[in-house]
Amino acid sequence: MERLRWILWGYKTGGIRDWEYSASKPEEEVQTSRIAQPEEKLLRISDELTGCTRCRLHSGRTNLVFGEGSAKSGLVFVGEGPGFDEDRQGRPFVGRAGKLLDKMIFAIGFDRNEVYICNVVKCRPPENRTPQPDETAACSPFLFRQIEALGPKVICALGLSAAQSLLGNSRPMFQLRGKVHLWRGIPLICTYHPAYLLRSPSQKAAAWQDLKEVLRVLRA
Ligand code: URA
Repeated sequence: MERLRWILWGYKTGGIRDWEYSASKPEEEVQTSRIAQPEEKLLRISDELTGCTRCRLHSGRTNLVFGEGSAKSGLVFVGEGPGFDEDRQGRPFVGRAGKLLDKMIFAIGFDRNEVYICNVVKCRPPENRTPQPDETAACSPFLFRQIEALGPKVICALGLSAAQSLLGNSRPMFQLRGKVHLWRGIPLICTYHPAYLLRSPSQKAAAWQDLKEVLRVLRA
């Protein structure tokens, strides 16, 4: 069954955001707490990024790509930075790599809209190059606040940029995979970037091991 899920790797993609508390609370309480805390915090962070010119990436952007999804599953995926399609649409992982990420998410039992997806840098690097250290430095405080606002149970870093930015080191992927790291006390698991998996499909089996570990930690 697991194998089948892996082979199928996702069909459902979905809408975004599901923040409201369930309506089973008393009327009064529903009115005072209609919007969950994380959304308020995320809105504030997102507002601070409006019109951002903190690094050179702003000059090439069509849209800033903040991130989207739900905090409810306790699972956050962090990628590198928006590509062409993401820049156009203002949404993370909506191009080819995004379709594969949708399948990866589906393979561990979630729809895309049940997890939160974001990137280290919020504006597209030219020609999709790797973000430079000063660009990452300018943007990562916002990523860190974003993650703290979400308060996930597990972070999954997609690719080296995300893994190294979150862990503050420059270790290669082979040293980062296969371990449960901690980011400010939150378990963090590193895996290959979906764009890399598109180029190197033979690594999907290894990524599947990482995803199973994500699920194990999430359920622990
Ligand atoms: N690659 C990333 O790292 N992030 C995206 O949003 C899209 C592609």
